[in-house]
Amino acid sequence: MFASSVHASESQSTSVSTVSSSSKSTQSLTHVKVQINWNHQFQFAGFYAAIKQGYYQQAGLDVNMVSWKPGVNVADEVVSGRADFGVGKGTMIVDYAKGKPLSLIMASFQFSPLVLLAHETVTDLAQLSEKTVMHDGGFQVESLLNKASPEVKKLIHTVTSSGNLQDFIDGKVDYYAAYATNEPYRLKQMGVPFYILDPKSYGVQSYGDFVVTSKKIASLQPGLVKAFKEASIKGWQYAIIHQQETVDFILENYPVVKSRDALLAEAKVTSQYVQTGNVPIGNIDPLKLLASAATAKELGMITPAEFEALNTQDFIFDDSKSFFTEEELAYLKSHPVITLASDSDWAPFEFNDSEKGYSGISADYFKLFERKLGVRFQAVFSDSWDKVAEMTKNGELDIYSCAVATPERKEYMNFTKPYLSFPMALASGDTIKFANEYKQLAGFTIAVVKGYWSHELLKTQYPEVKLLEVTNVVEGLNAVVDGRADGYLGNLAVINYTQHKYGLEGLRIVGQFAERFELAIGVQKSNPVLLSIIQKTLDSVTQEQRDAIFNRWVRLELVTELNNKQLLQIFIPVFLIVFGLLSLVFVYAYQKRQQKSYITQIHELSYATEIDLKTKKVIWSSKSFARLSGYSQDELVGMPYLNLSWKGLDDEEVQTIYKRLLQGYSWSGEMRAKTKNGGSYWIELTLTPNKNLFGHVTTVLATRVNITDKKRVEQLSVTDELTGLFNRRHYNEVIEFEIRRAKREQRSLCVAMLDIDYFKLVNDSYGHPHGDKVLKDVAKQLTLSFHRASDFVFRVGGEEFLAISSFESEAKFIEHLELLRQQIEQLNIENKHAPLKVVTISIGGLYLAADQEMNSEEIFKSVDRMLYAAKQQGRNRIEMFTFAEVS
Ligand code: GH3
Ligand code: MG
Ligand code: MG
Repeated sequence: MFASSVHASESQSTSVSTVSSSSKSTQSLTHVKVQINWNHQFQFAGFYAAIKQGYYQQAGLDVNMVSWKPGVNVADEVVSGRADFGVGKGTMIVDYAKGKPLSLIMASFQFSPLVLLAHETVTDLAQLSEKTVMHDGGFQVESLLNKASPEVKKLIHTVTSSGNLQDFIDGKVDYYAAYATNEPYRLKQMGVPFYILDPKSYGVQSYGDFVVTSKKIASLQPGLVKAFKEASIKGWQYAIIHQQETVDFILENYPVVKSRDALLAEAKVTSQYVQTGNVPIGNIDPLKLLASAATAKELGMITPAEFEALNTQDFIFDDSKSFFTEEELAYLKSHPVITLASDSDWAPFEFNDSEKGYSGISADYFKLFERKLGVRFQAVFSDSWDKVAEMTKNGELDIYSCAVATPERKEYMNFTKPYLSFPMALASGDTIKFANEYKQLAGFTIAVVKGYWSHELLKTQYPEVKLLEVTNVVEGLNAVVDGRADGYLGNLAVINYTQHKYGLEGLRIVGQFAERFELAIGVQKSNPVLLSIIQKTLDSVTQEQRDAIFNRWVRLELVTELNNKQLLQIFIPVFLIVFGLLSLVFVYAYQKRQQKSYITQIHELSYATEIDLKTKKVIWSSKSFARLSGYSQDELVGMPYLNLSWKGLDDEEVQTIYKRLLQGYSWSGEMRAKTKNGGSYWIELTLTPNKNLFGHVTTVLATRVNITDKKRVEQLSVTDELTGLFNRRHYNEVIEFEIRRAKREQRSLCVAMLDIDYFKLVNDSYGHPHGDKVLKDVAKQLTLSFHRASDFVFRVGGEEFLAISSFESEAKFIEHLELLRQQIEQLNIENKHAPLKVVTISIGGLYLAADQEMNSEEIFKSVDRMLYAAKQQGRNRIEMFTFAEVS
């Protein structure tokens, strides 16, 4: 896996003289390959810097950066094992959702530098109408185009990227997808005018470069991955500060296409993507990851089912939980293939599909295990279960993939906790009317599959039952259908599935027994290590994943063919009579029905319900709304409508809406609602009044758009797009936490609210975009000022910020704020119409000693009041809250 061949980095690592740890010679280092996704340039600076500084070597690694060639797919290189690590686009979440066993180690860039170059400034996406966009996909651009499509009058044309910037320069295309870190510099060099259309300003969120490894390496060598990650982060820290040194190192050691100046320009821009706001380098926020997956779903890059099944937490490499012991890791490493004793004909649990091979519920579990463990599970079939069981008994196969822990099997196998459970059931034709105890079967002939639990049970405990031994389930059920047996005894789910699949008629379930098939995974007794691995892996399967697998194979809704037939028998004569007698009326009725079915469709699509305006109770509900809310249609009828909302709306609000509706106007707004079992979902609700014949409003039609996903994504974001600082929502969470922490650790809590003075004048004098830049510069200074691990800076309003920190005394805190105030002034950002002609800030501060208490609301009010006071007293100053004021 880790080729020890001689490669470029070997000579580099030996040439590095700054490495202090001499104990590790090059020979003892682990060789790893990192596949990059573009030409060598500053985009990968963190990795080169870690090589240059010997960080990898200190961590026991010899890292070889593998050059990129057109056509190389980073995800595939990593999955195939040709590379140990890979650096690729943020869209690798799509590869993961589609089943590639990748593990995400870190994000080099906190957001994507992908932008569109334009020939004219874009203030409105409608401008893209009929324009040509040259791009190669990627979230940023796809999502932006998606947002633009409802805005434009005529279609946007897209062409695949030629990779040649000349096409943009020559005006062959209107927009050209580019990296903010590269092409703008080249255009500037050439003196070509251009504008940037940044998807970020239209709310598109996603990460830039991802660093990944295979699931296999992540689970078998977590220590290696962790070491690589830590050294790479250190590398980035170095590269950002020592841009020139890093650029020179790249130029000396790698084939580089760009000039030194181009690399330096790239370095400057790249650093902003690597280190943004207070976010630690490399950081991955699972929520932001989920948000980008939701974008991918909206764009159709992953299906809704793939999105549902996606577990972002599973994607992220987690070095904190040392999941497996050394012994277990060693076992997995030395056993790349583990054999399963599997039943070729036991659907839906497991079977050998003629096209897809090993299939079914258990197969899906083991496929999941493969992704988690990086080993292969090889299903071994034979022509009968009996033979497979025999092989297992002889120790030839490692695992029973799906079996009941019978006493006989327990003699040679250990079992995990059960992962599936169904009752033993009896299917019969007419001969057996009902049975719930096995002794009732005395004298009857019962079909059982040889070697199955049902077989063992009847044979050993109920000798008075006559057995018909068959080789598989269909054969057993067929034996009942054709009268060779009175019943078939077996697993309920299997009987159901087989009946459906083969359309076996005339069979009924006439009995369920106390025994349940508690299906578990069995492992050879001689192999406790593997048992522990399997149990841990099984435990790590989430409920969502379990449900997804179950729903794929078990159809809970049984098709009632008989009822349909009966319906048809009634319908045809009625239809003929109606048609014969009232053919004219029929045409009318037909049209009506069409109309009605059309309306029904709309109602279903819009989760419609009808509400009585007077009683505010539900009169009728669509099926789709019943599904959404978790109630049955019947339960909904008569239910007070307001009971469905998440929390009681205040009376005034309800009255306002009620009045509007009475007057015949419709109302619409976003609402959070609760399901029957207490879950919540978000809807955009539209209430439309229905008038009766006299023009009075009696009922209201409620239609809905399910915006749960959208809300989820909105709520997930903790950072502010413009400045990269934390946002207001996050402040609300952090402050509560920090109040508790200060109390627990007996420390002070320091809070400051800061507002830029005369900021309107900045916008007025220099334009809004420049105002944005000023906000970023101020934000940057705030970040520098509050840089300790327990410091936080938030952007809570347009040009309003909050900082949380802790100082040993109030004097120290004031001193710090005073320094900050001066630093901002000394940034010398022009604001020519302001009294001081430069940008300044006013600050309201609060020092809460360890023994003083305030809740979050009081804290906010206090600093807000102090900020106001600072403004009143002339701005560019600090006002501190004093406790004397309270009394
Ligand atoms: P004061 O000294 O009293 O704080 O005066 P001010 O001009 O800063 O006044 P105020 O706080 O009321 O105005 C803030 C202005 O900030 C209003 C708004 O146009 C502008 N603003 C808010 N958000 C943004 C933003 O994201 N970008 C830019 N460029 N301007 C913003
Ligand atoms: Mg202001
Ligand atoms: Mg303000």
